[in-house]
Amino acid sequence: MPVVMKFGGTSVADAAAFENVARIVANERDAAPVVVVSAMSGVTDSLLAATNIAALENVFDRHRAVARELLDASKADHFIDRLREAADKIATLLQSPAQKPAEHKSLQDAVVSFGETLSSTLLAEVLNQKGIKARQVDARRCIITDEEFTSATPLMPETFAQSQSELIPVLKSGVVPVLGGFIGSTKRGVTTTLGRGGSDYTAALIGAALGVSEIQIWTDVTGVLTADPRIVPSAQTVERLSYGEAAELAYFGAKVLHPKTIQPAIENSIPVRICNSRAPHELGTLVGPETETSPRTVKAIAHKTGVTTVQITSARMLGAYGFLRALFEVFERHRTVVDVVTTSEVSVSLSLDDASALPAIVAELEQLGTVRVEKGRAIICVVGEGLRGTPGIAARVFSTISDINVTLISQGASSINFTFAIEEERVKEAVIRLHEEFFATKRHITNKSNQ
Ligand code: ASP
Ligand code: MG
Repeated sequence: MPVVMKFGGTSVADAAAFENVARIVANERDAAPVVVVSAMSGVTDSLLAATNIAALENVFDRHRAVARELLDASKADHFIDRLREAADKIATLLQSPAQKPAEHKSLQDAVVSFGETLSSTLLAEVLNQKGIKARQVDARRCIITDEEFTSATPLMPETFAQSQSELIPVLKSGVVPVLGGFIGSTKRGVTTTLGRGGSDYTAALIGAALGVSEIQIWTDVTGVLTADPRIVPSAQTVERLSYGEAAELAYFGAKVLHPKTIQPAIENSIPVRICNSRAPHELGTLVGPETETSPRTVKAIAHKTGVTTVQITSARMLGAYGFLRALFEVFERHRTVVDVVTTSEVSVSLSLDDASALPAIVAELEQLGTVRVEKGRAIICVVGEGLRGTPGIAARVFSTISDINVTLISQGASSINFTFAIEEERVKEAVIRLHEEFFATKRHITNKSNQ
């Protein structure tokens, strides 16, 4: 069974990074790797911002520099010809008069796709140069999508069938297929993209189509940490997470996979390993169908700042139906995402990330009841499958931060998270204290194990 290895933009930022990727792929050679790669870091942004070809000179220079440094002269010349062709095509696309918005989006996808096309072409060449037989496979022949340009949805049966027929023969011949992430095409062959950060999604789709044993996401951190290392320098890598735990952490700001991107892996029970390109021998975090709930009940503490909480109190709620619907319709009308929700008999509290439509929302909510808004809040989320069967976690949390005012408490329906809001100014101190409480090795435990 092959493995998918996906490398993000920072893993292919320059020649040294490309060489490092080649080393990492060489180590996995026996596992029949399929490589998925993002555009070189910053390239997608540059392509999106470009209004003329001159603005992209730096992008082409960076690719040229990698080719010159890592490839034989003739191979480098050949790649640089391809680069020139790409520049010509991009120039033509940028000159086409802006048409209807829908067509404009398809132009944008056509331009931006060059980031991944070029990085994958270059990586395949670099691998060959290092003695690893590799071939670039155009991801647009594998990932078949609807026509929702800039955030297309893959059509699963087509994507699976195409990925298998494009990739299996390459694997069988002992060659490493290298695909650009993020890009796809419609059934009619028009270029689409899966939305920003979509390369992880490509990796999961390819992994599911091929039934691989593992999908590796190579990035610049060692997996998922027990807390934000900028606040808790002693934060450690979490060895294993369930898909559910990873999803909770992603929602609350931890730097992990977006739940949507690993959906194809989840549906096929394929483990996803988050690895660090800069520390390839560390195991990183394995996200999979199972998890262990010991030795630690709590796996990680995530938090998010810049949150606004809104409380609506209304006696009309008591014994009435339709109230919650009316309330949530207000948020829906203003296209505002609600994160955490708690309700009592006569009040509803909720948290928002994006408060830009708040004045209009509040004006409408006031027709339903008394509204109280609190800005400058933070949400802390304590996550672990073990929470399900361990009483007293809430008490431990509250006693650890007993001098900090806690609002909006919720234990998610999955009961693998315990979430609450506090004042933003106190979030660092709260996270540090909770991390100490749940993760510091206790002296008496150490003593016992020494006996
Ligand atoms: N290059 C694309 C982006 O920057 C896709 C990705 O890197 O996942 O969003
Ligand atoms: Mg990314």
